[in-house]
Amino acid sequence: MPDDLKRCVEFHGHICPGLIYGYRVAKEAMKLMKIKRAVDEEVVAICENDSCAVDALQVLLGTAAGKGNLIIKDFGKNAYTVLNRSRRQAYRFSRKTRYGYKGKDKSVFENMEAAIAAGTASEDDRRKFKRLKVNDLLARPFAEIFTTTEVPFAEPLYAPLASSEPCVICGEMTMAIKMVKLSDGRQACIPCSQKR
Ligand SMILES: [Zn+2]
Ligand SMILES: [Zn+2]
Repeated sequence: MPDDLKRCVEFHGHICPGLIYGYRVAKEAMKLMKIKRAVDEEVVAICENDSCAVDALQVLLGTAAGKGNLIIKDFGKNAYTVLNRSRRQAYRFSRKTRYGYKGKDKSVFENMEAAIAAGTASEDDRRKFKRLKVNDLLARPFAEIFTTTEVPFAEPLYAPLASSEPCVICGEMTMAIKMVKLSDGRQACIPCSQKR
């Protein structure tokens, strides 16, 4: 297993096909835009799902939820846009087709697939099945899995440095821009405003 993939697995907690999709996308983006790892917010990723794949992007591209350079638009699509601010370049990667095994253990794969569908697969079978899929996705040419499109660079906003204020109901500190104005004009946090 390559070192950078190992780091993704450590962060994510397990190896799975979803993580490999993200790994492949991150590697391709790095190659196309000569990205190392996002130092600050120089690289931005917009993920159109909130699956395992996102974690590989966080590790390799340094696009992390807490830094504001990871934007999740959960449309349930296996698609990702990666922007490089210093080069003012952006690419969108979108998965092409339904998954179909292309490796050399086709019959093994199909037997396991059938066993899983029939509910007779053991835990070990499931693991092997996943592993076959993982290896297959790692071995394929990128262009077979994803469509790559250069998209116009549109500057996403930097993470807002928002001040916090206490909620008038619970008193907890809340980002001012996330607060809701009550009918009497006072500001409350979202959960409190919904309880009323
Ligand atoms: Zn996973
Ligand atoms: Zn509150």
